[in-house]
Amino acid sequence: MSESDCLFCNIRDEKIPAAIVYRDNDVLAFKDVTPRAPLHLLVIPLRHIASLTDARPEDAELFGKLMLAGARLAADAGHGEDGFRVVMNAGPNAGQSVFHVHLHVLAGRELAWPPG
Ligand code: AMP
Repeated sequence: MSESDCLFCNIRDEKIPAAIVYRDNDVLAFKDVTPRAPLHLLVIPLRHIASLTDARPEDAELFGKLMLAGARLAADAGHGEDGFRVVMNAGPNAGQSVFHVHLHVLAGRELAWPPG
């Protein structure tokens, strides 16, 4: 798939609208269009990586930045104390539906464990 066909690359490039809450030189965060919790953000790398299964050792710092951005955004939204969950679906059994890496950040209600 080329980047022009990628939904999240198009959101990154502001060709498709989204409720963007954070952007820096490495990552972008926006509200999930179908929220599964009162706070449901997606944090993506600006660089197109289809799935966690495609990550290389040199991407380790970038994946750390996704996690830290997710944690900071959850805390900034007031969920540093009551808690939040970060989830990355990879591949068909996990239900990955958009093939540009994204970290789900969910908060604002009690989250069941284990997930479905
Ligand atoms: P996953 O199933 O883990 O690949 O997650 C993909 C997520 O992208 C789902 O939670 C969708 O609701 C979300 N999503 C799909 N299209 C959009 C969009 N245009 N803007 C924001 N979130 C989206």
